[in-house]
Amino acid sequence: MAILRFKAIEVAQSRPSVEVSLPSHKISDYFGINVFNKEAMRAHLSTEMYKRLTSAIEHGHKIEEDLADAVASAMKSWAISKGVTHYTHWFQPLTGSTAEKHDAFFDIDRDGKVIEKFKGSALVQQEPDASSFPSGGIRSTFEARGYTAWDPSSPAFIMEIEGSKTLCIPTIFVSYTGESLDFKTPLLKSLHALDKAATAVCELFDKDIKRVIATLGPEQEYFLIDKALYLARPDLMMAGRTVIGAAPAKGQQLEDHYFGSIPPRVRAFMIDFETEAIKLGIPIRTRHNEVAPSQFECAPTFEEVNLAVDHNLLLMDLMEKVAEKHNFKVLFHEKPFAGINGNGKHNNWSLITDTGKNLLAPTAKPKENLMFLAFFVNVIKAVYDYADLLRASIASAGNDYRLGANEAPPAIISVFIGEQMMKVLDELEHNAAIKIDKGDNLYMKLGINKIPPILLDNTDRNRTSPFAFTGNKFEFRAVGGSANCSAPMIALNTAVAHTLSQFRKDVEEEIKNTDKRELAIINVLRRYISEAKKVIFEGDGYSEEWVAEAERRGLPNIKSTPLALDSYVSEKNLKLFEQNGVMTHREVEARYEINLENYIKKIQIEGRVLGDLALSHVIPAAIKYQNILVENLEGIRDVGIQTESENTIIDTVKEISHHVSVIQKKVEEMTEARKVANKIENTRERAIAYEKTVKALFDEIRYSIDKLELLVDDEMWTLPKYRELLNIR
Ligand code: ADP
Ligand code: MG
Repeated sequence: MAILRFKAIEVAQSRPSVEVSLPSHKISDYFGINVFNKEAMRAHLSTEMYKRLTSAIEHGHKIEEDLADAVASAMKSWAISKGVTHYTHWFQPLTGSTAEKHDAFFDIDRDGKVIEKFKGSALVQQEPDASSFPSGGIRSTFEARGYTAWDPSSPAFIMEIEGSKTLCIPTIFVSYTGESLDFKTPLLKSLHALDKAATAVCELFDKDIKRVIATLGPEQEYFLIDKALYLARPDLMMAGRTVIGAAPAKGQQLEDHYFGSIPPRVRAFMIDFETEAIKLGIPIRTRHNEVAPSQFECAPTFEEVNLAVDHNLLLMDLMEKVAEKHNFKVLFHEKPFAGINGNGKHNNWSLITDTGKNLLAPTAKPKENLMFLAFFVNVIKAVYDYADLLRASIASAGNDYRLGANEAPPAIISVFIGEQMMKVLDELEHNAAIKIDKGDNLYMKLGINKIPPILLDNTDRNRTSPFAFTGNKFEFRAVGGSANCSAPMIALNTAVAHTLSQFRKDVEEEIKNTDKRELAIINVLRRYISEAKKVIFEGDGYSEEWVAEAERRGLPNIKSTPLALDSYVSEKNLKLFEQNGVMTHREVEARYEINLENYIKKIQIEGRVLGDLALSHVIPAAIKYQNILVENLEGIRDVGIQTESENTIIDTVKEISHHVSVIQKKVEEMTEARKVANKIENTRERAIAYEKTVKALFDEIRYSIDKLELLVDDEMWTLPKYRELLNIR
């Protein structure tokens, strides 16, 4: 049989670009046409109901029954007018992707007539058969009920796939006993806590501010691989990453892919998914190549966090679906290929008031700058105090391969703020002996009368930091490419909410000692800076020196997921979630358990697929080639001539034998290690065993396999090589 690899290469090489056409040259003509947005609501609801709904959404109030009925009916008529036949509650179980359960809009009445039906009760709540979603022990299967409930703050939308259209209603997912089983529920709670705490701090500066909204702009990195080549790589199919593969002669060292021109097939794919995204109201904006070959990035304009998370998940789903049409596979995995960059999802995060002020952007007005500084310093303190939790929130089997590797931030959580802000904080901290007299310009005396306008270019230079200030927002870069942004956002929002609440209390306390409020604020900020500045690091985060320096500073550097996750259930962090009304102990513990299980499963799958490839692809090819060499040697000897190549052939045969026996031995060892690990009852111990005994063998096995790839005749190698996976499109 012909080798699949060569067929795949042939197919991939000869594919034409798929023709795509834009619905219109003006994006505004089709932006959000598949969303039940304000415009659609206004068209399908009475004025009274429209007002009640928008007000309930804005203030987070309960939706009354009659309103729910009216909205359901409006949604239904809007959707049916667009050719929709089914609806689904769309939710985010803890598996990491999204889930749907489709129901038809129509029903059969008693006379056998088809009627279209969608009641308020069906909009507001549903009970999907949820027994197969992970619950971390919260829900035993005999009481498997889980409920989905409408989240009115994220608009319903129509998913259009190959002619079939479904109305998707964003929902939360909770257990019968009310515990959260998803990402959205605690995310909404963390946003509420943050709003409350941040508004209370704003009150110290500006009484007009009544609400603070957290914003998120997630930049999404991904690889695009031809589908035929993908299908010839069982490891990509099973694990989302290559577990073997020798480095190609040319990888990313020339960095010529970065901002290079986008290949036509890829461009067609991008235009296509961007068009679909725009129809769904996702404000997708930039498109460019990344550093690694075949790697790309897209970024939307930032939105309120809850909506941004929904949109990111929707976008990932859309990209996968549209890719099918273009015969591509999208890889979001954190490290699909060894030796080149992995996929991150930079979470750009900020706080904006209902009066339109970005709280993390310095301005020319001194008074506003004190407010900016308060928020700026509080975020740094939150990151310092909860660095362990932030680390846990981005921990996954995939991200373990990325953190600390090529162009990825280290596992040490530090904050980069840039030279100018360093100076400002330094001055603020050390300028302690200030005396303020009547009539003094307070802000001038404090040295914060004008914070120099931050040059975005300046602050964004340091790409090695996991958490960087970029002029008007912070960018949490350590988030993995396949992750649901909710986990890091929940941790960050809650930590900042908590710090801000404490700040407000500390300021009230301090006001008792000073007569000037501004001075009280400054005093507290000074304290915070001197406490938290250890987490600020301006140097090269990829360097060895930083690892040593961070250790001296006492900053945690936890490299593996099973240990990083411990921080979720530390007393300090359990208390943080509970005190701020985000998650109960039981909810956090369930999540912790699910994350560990997930880690184990991922490593288990990788181990199995590595073993399979080794035994059924690599070793047979190596032996086949070895036999040819032996025959060749015999031939030479038969002829009876002395050649120099004889020794070379013998050496190669020996080398192949050596690698084959290493692989055989280590794969066996790995299988044994898996069996031993599987017997361990305690999930944490089992996860650690998987890391220390199973995963620990991956590199050794891979080393010998990759050596064989370079020795064996190219024509006998069955798996597409890195150069093919990364360059044919
Ligand atoms: P870079 O690649 O230099 O980091 P990009 O322009 O690609 O920058 O991405 C910046 C991201 O930050 C965009 O998604 C943008 O919408 C987002 N962003 C900008 N301002 C804010 C803000 N105030 N809050 C949250 N995200 C923001
Ligand atoms: Mg960025």
